[in-house]
Amino acid sequence: MDFELSEHAEQWRRRLQVFFDQEVLPRHRAWLDHVVQRREPAPFMAELQSKARAQGLWNLGLPELADDEPGTRLSNLDYAPLAEIMGRLFWASEVFNCQAPDVPNMIALQNCATPAQKRQWLRPLLEAQTRSAFGMTEPDVASSDATNIATTIVRDGDDYLINGRKWFITGAAHPRCSFLIVMGVSNPDADRTRRHSCIIVPMNAPGVRLVRPIRWMGCEDHVAPIGELKFENVRVPAENLLGQEGDGFKVAQIRLGPARIHHCMRSIGLCELLIELMMARATERRAFGRSVIEYDTVQRWIAESRVELEQARLLCYRCAWLLDRAGHHGAWREVSLIKVAVPAMLQRIADRAMQVFGAMGGSDDTPIHQALAWGRLLRIGDGPDEVHLRQIFRMEAAPPWTIADSPYLAPHPV
Ligand SMILES: Cc1cc2nc3c(=O)[nH]c(=O)nc-3n(C[C@H](O)[C@H](O)[C@H](O)COP(=O)(O)OP(=O)(O)OC[C@H]3O[C@@H](n4cnc5c(N)ncnc54)[C@H](O)[C@@H]3O)c2cc1C
Repeated sequence: MDFELSEHAEQWRRRLQVFFDQEVLPRHRAWLDHVVQRREPAPFMAELQSKARAQGLWNLGLPELADDEPGTRLSNLDYAPLAEIMGRLFWASEVFNCQAPDVPNMIALQNCATPAQKRQWLRPLLEAQTRSAFGMTEPDVASSDATNIATTIVRDGDDYLINGRKWFITGAAHPRCSFLIVMGVSNPDADRTRRHSCIIVPMNAPGVRLVRPIRWMGCEDHVAPIGELKFENVRVPAENLLGQEGDGFKVAQIRLGPARIHHCMRSIGLCELLIELMMARATERRAFGRSVIEYDTVQRWIAESRVELEQARLLCYRCAWLLDRAGHHGAWREVSLIKVAVPAMLQRIADRAMQVFGAMGGSDDTPIHQALAWGRLLRIGDGPDEVHLRQIFRMEAAPPWTIADSPYLAPHPV
């Protein structure tokens, strides 16, 4: 097996790294000041985006762009090391139009939208002229089982009428979010996985109400603020339906594969940063007459973090490679594997980093507590651990022998 990055990927990685170091990282303080402290948009974002785009660093996470669509057309595998660089800052992906939930939505639209829908909804996303959200989860039902989703999508003449409540909808509270893809029941009598459809709902459609913004573990998602929404007799034209009636699961699954793997790639980059932070802090800090880095416990935490990170990275690369070769269905198992492995690793590494930093680790002076919250979120968002573990277990094949006749065992004869 060849573990080297392709020349093509390495070239893009270097280009992105230079841009990140020279243009993005120096603005981190200003970003915190404007967006987090003053709660206003980063005044330099549009300029940074056009600079990045001028260098070709645009729509990096979309392998299947049409000829007239802007972007690099990197494979998932080639994108992985680039997403790692972006993952070091919570806001960096937006500079390159690679942020969630827009990229998974773009992939859903690429695969399921009609040409007219692509012109109206996909094109503005590819150009970063608008933002979007995906609305599945509901407060009143256990949404980890998507067959429970109860919002109704009912045909009424040339329109559909939508009624229901959604919450924890990432990006829905962003002031520039102009539409969301809503999942709801359209065919209640159909087979369990054919009851639901996905439909494009403009945020300004009469009857769509942003009930409140939602924080997660006290943290706000400043890139894609989370919202709770209510839909009361929302009327949208029938041509807003994505795919056919009953295709809701198909649409959701198409976007969930990339959504999950991209989160994992970025989280691996964040873990790389956490290890660097641990190294720097423990080297500089002295306690009980020694540098903190000299303590076995701290060395072990850092070494264990490295072991876990390299394992996760390889698994993530393999998943990306499978996604490129075999599409979503071929990578289904690996997506579940990394979806369980990476958030748990992020949580462990962030926890160690917090301990190494002492009190400072839980303050806004470091990104560590947000990393911890992010890891915790990813163990629930896009499907809780338990659901993925069940999937993984179900794909485990039973061995072709019983314990009694196993060639590997020597049970004592009765
Ligand atoms: C910060 C954040 C952002 C989010 N963004 C979005 C978004 O943009 N769009 C969107 O639609 N949703 C979003 N979500 C929602 C997320 O996808 C759901 O929370 C998730 O699918 C779980 O659904 P639930 O909260 O209803 O939990 P429930 O379905 O009520 O499940 C609760 C718990 O039950 C247990 N459980 C469930 N199934 C099983 C099983 N098979 N075996 C064992 N135990 C099980 C698990 O421990 C699970 O955590 C977001 C969530 C968070 C926290």
